[in-house]
Amino acid sequence: MHTFERAIVVGAGFAGLSAARALADAGLAVTVLEARERVGGRVWSTTLTNGAIVELGAEWIRADDAVVRETAERFDVDLAETGASYSRREPWGPGAAPLADQERFLELADAALAALVPSQVETLTVGAFLETVEGDDAARSIVTSRLAGTCANDLHEVALASFGGERPFASHDERFFRAGSGNQSIASELAASLPDVRTGHAVDGIEHSDGRVTVRVGPLSEHADAVVVAVPAPIAARLVFTPALPADLATALRSLVMGAASKFAVATKERPVPRSRQLADMSMWCWTANGRDGKTRRCVSSFAGSREAQESLGTTRGELAPWLEAVRAMNPDLTLVDEPVMYAWADDPYTLGAYSSWDPASWIRRDVLARPVGPIAFAGEHTEHDRHGTMEGALRSGRRAARQLLERSD
Ligand SMILES: Cc1cc2nc3c(=O)[nH]c(=O)nc-3n(C[C@H](O)[C@H](O)[C@H](O)COP(=O)(O)OP(=O)(O)OC[C@H]3O[C@@H](n4cnc5c(N)ncnc54)[C@H](O)[C@@H]3O)c2cc1C
Repeated sequence: MHTFERAIVVGAGFAGLSAARALADAGLAVTVLEARERVGGRVWSTTLTNGAIVELGAEWIRADDAVVRETAERFDVDLAETGASYSRREPWGPGAAPLADQERFLELADAALAALVPSQVETLTVGAFLETVEGDDAARSIVTSRLAGTCANDLHEVALASFGGERPFASHDERFFRAGSGNQSIASELAASLPDVRTGHAVDGIEHSDGRVTVRVGPLSEHADAVVVAVPAPIAARLVFTPALPADLATALRSLVMGAASKFAVATKERPVPRSRQLADMSMWCWTANGRDGKTRRCVSSFAGSREAQESLGTTRGELAPWLEAVRAMNPDLTLVDEPVMYAWADDPYTLGAYSSWDPASWIRRDVLARPVGPIAFAGEHTEHDRHGTMEGALRSGRRAARQLLERSD
């Protein structure tokens, strides 16, 4: 077993903070270097003028997100049940297929998937597969809009194999949660529990030789025995590693696509009844959900995933009006007040997209992303392919990366 005393973690998102916590729990001195002026990365909460706490990044916590729940509990962050469903959304817009028709279509999709041989599953995209499912075209259309939103990408770019688990299409009766004080409070509490978290420190390069690591931040250098790189894949691909990363890892990082997604929220005059509504012809949906007092917050939140949806709503041009009008039309019973907030992750300089989106070639390479290189371990949602693109995946990846360093034998 390799013994070491000091580790550096690059990135203070859920993955980096969870790695840092696990290393500190094992008795190591840990420094976290974060490029932004805040912690949390893609978990970013803000408060509307009427006091409603909303999420500009990750929002939905599943009942079986064990590591998120355990972390929230450890730091006394209360989770509020949303009262709205992530997976069963009221269809909205002309020609929208009723929920019952969508569910029938999804069951047919699961049956068609079960009949495929593994080599077909490995090579097909979700888009190509859904075109072959016998079923109602209106249902196919809204299901495609919903799933393209979730994947933040055109489904013809998404590997069917990346839809893991048994019956991945059928909606399961699930309960969903969010931190009443904002999901980012989990990151803030984790960071506060660590002795040395430095924001405003954008790492450019990592050198290692003889088991020692040097991390470069502009003209500054930090030294340690090991490092966890917990930045999104396209950011890791841009870091200068000396010696260079193995070619298969460099290729896997460089070619993993990031989906495009944005969040939007606007205050309401009334306290709305809980709802979730999916547009039939665009990968955009909106919802109202409970706050920490168990009552619905006075606001509507919305998510748009895929480049096509960003284009239609003008998110990457910084436009607010098209999205505001769409949300207004989907919630005719509500009075929307004050300026909305919106964040387009496709433009974020420290993420370069929303979350990992896996084409068949990237899916085949997935294990490479979690493989350590000497004293360097890799964390981040993209390294935890079972739960990629989630807070749960990010937290799990941090623990796994810490374990890999602690169990090193070279
Ligand atoms: C719009 C949107 C909606 C989402 N919805 C959900 C949801 O409902 N439920 C869910 O579970 N998940 C959701 N997710 C996914 C979830 O946010 C991510 O999977 C998770 O937060 C990723 O954590 P991470 O630590 O891997 O990466 P990040 O959170 O991106 O953390 C990486 C950190 O590294 C920092 N960094 C980057 N470059 C450098 C550098 N050079 N030097 C130092 N630091 C650097 C970044 O600033 C960042 O803080 C959503 C994501 C988005 C964008």
